[in-house]
Amino acid sequence: MEIKNLAVFCGSSAGSDAIYIENAEKLGKELADENRTLIYGGAQVGCMGALANTSLNNGGKVVGVIPQKLKNVEIAHDHLTELHVVNTMHERKAKMAEMAEGFIALPGGAGTLEEWFEVFTWSQLGYHAKPCGLLNVNNFFDPLIAMLDHTIKEGFMNEDYREMIIISSDPKELLEKMDSYTPSYAVKWS
Ligand code: AMP
Repeated sequence: MEIKNLAVFCGSSAGSDAIYIENAEKLGKELADENRTLIYGGAQVGCMGALANTSLNNGGKVVGVIPQKLKNVEIAHDHLTELHVVNTMHERKAKMAEMAEGFIALPGGAGTLEEWFEVFTWSQLGYHAKPCGLLNVNNFFDPLIAMLDHTIKEGFMNEDYREMIIISSDPKELLEKMDSYTPSYAVKWS
């Protein structure tokens, strides 16, 4: 099934290598070219801004969700297709999760990781069955994947959940893999 609405979590910073911005732009263009709507945190800074701008500049639809408190400090993007201003961080994540049919993390900081882990853990618990992907630019996520493999090895995560994580370093391939995702694992505690 083609996923039309994708939530993308990524850094509000640019990262130390130009490759991070370049790949945020590559994903933004791919989303626009494939007529997919980008749902993201609504900022115009760092990788978040690069992603949104490239999608918009290529004719894509971009929906931002930003809490009032961060609206000024993260410098909300003022040319989005839609900007939802919410009251709290929890409302922001809930709104993004509700609108999206799939989730992707690009390289980012603690905020990005927290957002992605929330939707990934919700999938394990059966709150949704939407695909969770990682765009592994510059092998950024290798240490995270190694940590999850360690978690499985030490008996804290079922190895079936490893299959749920869709990984690619190429935006187009990642989107294709997400389209063909079918959850085949048993929900934890069902
Ligand atoms: P970062 O990856 O830390 O640059 O953050 C990227 C995005 O995640 C920004 O829009 C932050 O506002 C957001 N963010 C940071 N911490 C959290 C959190 N605890 N829950 C939800 N979003 C967050």
